[in-house]
Amino acid sequence: MNTKQYIAVEDKYGAHNYHPLDVVIDKAKGIWVWDVDGRKYLDFLSAYSAVNHGHNHPRIIKALIAQARKLTLTSRAFRNDQWPMLAKELCQRTGYDMVLPMNSGAEAVETAVKTARKWGYQKKGIPQDQAEIIVCANNFHGRTVTVISFSTEPLYRKDFGPFTPGFKIIPFGDADALEKAITPNTAAFLVEPYQAEAGILIPASGYLKKVREICSKNNILFIADEIQTGLGRTGKLFAWEHEKAKPDMIVIGKSLGGGCYPISACLATADVMNVFRPGEHGSTFGGNPLACAIARESLRVIKEENLVANAAKMGKYFMAKLRTIKSRHIKEVRGRGLLIGVELYPEAGGARRYCEALAAAGLLCKETHDNVIRFAPPLIIGTKDLDWAFEKIKEVFVQLDK
Ligand SMILES: *Cc1c(COP(=O)(O)O)cnc(C)c1O
Repeated sequence: MNTKQYIAVEDKYGAHNYHPLDVVIDKAKGIWVWDVDGRKYLDFLSAYSAVNHGHNHPRIIKALIAQARKLTLTSRAFRNDQWPMLAKELCQRTGYDMVLPMNSGAEAVETAVKTARKWGYQKKGIPQDQAEIIVCANNFHGRTVTVISFSTEPLYRKDFGPFTPGFKIIPFGDADALEKAITPNTAAFLVEPYQAEAGILIPASGYLKKVREICSKNNILFIADEIQTGLGRTGKLFAWEHEKAKPDMIVIGKSLGGGCYPISACLATADVMNVFRPGEHGSTFGGNPLACAIARESLRVIKEENLVANAAKMGKYFMAKLRTIKSRHIKEVRGRGLLIGVELYPEAGGARRYCEALAAAGLLCKETHDNVIRFAPPLIIGTKDLDWAFEKIKEVFVQLDK
């Protein structure tokens, strides 16, 4: 079957909850993917940063196959030999005390919300069912009903109510607004250090540090959603490190699974994580040995291949190049590490047509909202391939500037 035929089948039998570019991929290696018609593309999205290690990383695939042959699932009714080691290695690597494993990012965010509420009642003495969690406008934390209950994007919410109460929304990047929103019933502040889905929004420097101070002063938990920014994407292992503003709890997912298996986790201090007793929360596949073996190898690859330092270096290199493009349609180039956004003026006719032209030129990326093109290649990329991508991007801007 060819591209057209696969798309026809997908559109007939698959729910229409996405609007993908019309590229049908059937093979990948490292930073490259191939479609069913044999065309080759550079992956400049990395599955929203889930493929930070590149596709089919040989070490990660090897770990996957070895573990798949030994043991894949026990449920947490029994113990297995991989989960304790992942928990220990994650803690040693990140400086947190304890880990709660889940599968998808949204589930880990839900876990963080449940943890914060329980902490609020048990440790802070908030009256039952009164706990509040403060979040930011334009956030993206996933798609479950509770998580979209505090989204400000109408598209994510319309016809999905009624919603979960207990959330207060303040502007992103505004520490004063946080201070003002806190009440005696506030349990936590949940925030993405950089808002990726909102269009790669980077708050003014000093924001996270101020957030850390305000949360400490008011005895509320600072929770960072590092699902997309974490594990090296922004040029630090975690985005909070840019300001040395260590949260009480972080949520990770996406590239923890090495680009091939879903796994997510909440990491916290012992004081916070110890609110859980057996039976109060869980997941059949959470902490399964296959996911854990893959995540362990993914963490080792990040370290041994210096992916964090490479993201920092390549990000700087590439952003400087992007800034040399002269186009009347570019409003701003911004980012950290290899999480880069090119914001276009509305007159440019939308980022989607740029992504379509880039795909035709062999570069796969995706618009976020209407006017931002996101560039987020795998963290293994080097200057030679970035130079190749840059030429394609420049050509597309020349072509669409006409
Ligand atoms: C992708 C993402 C999520 C949701 O993760 P899923 O695995 O898609 O549920 C949550 N928060 C952020 C910041 C993300 O980028």
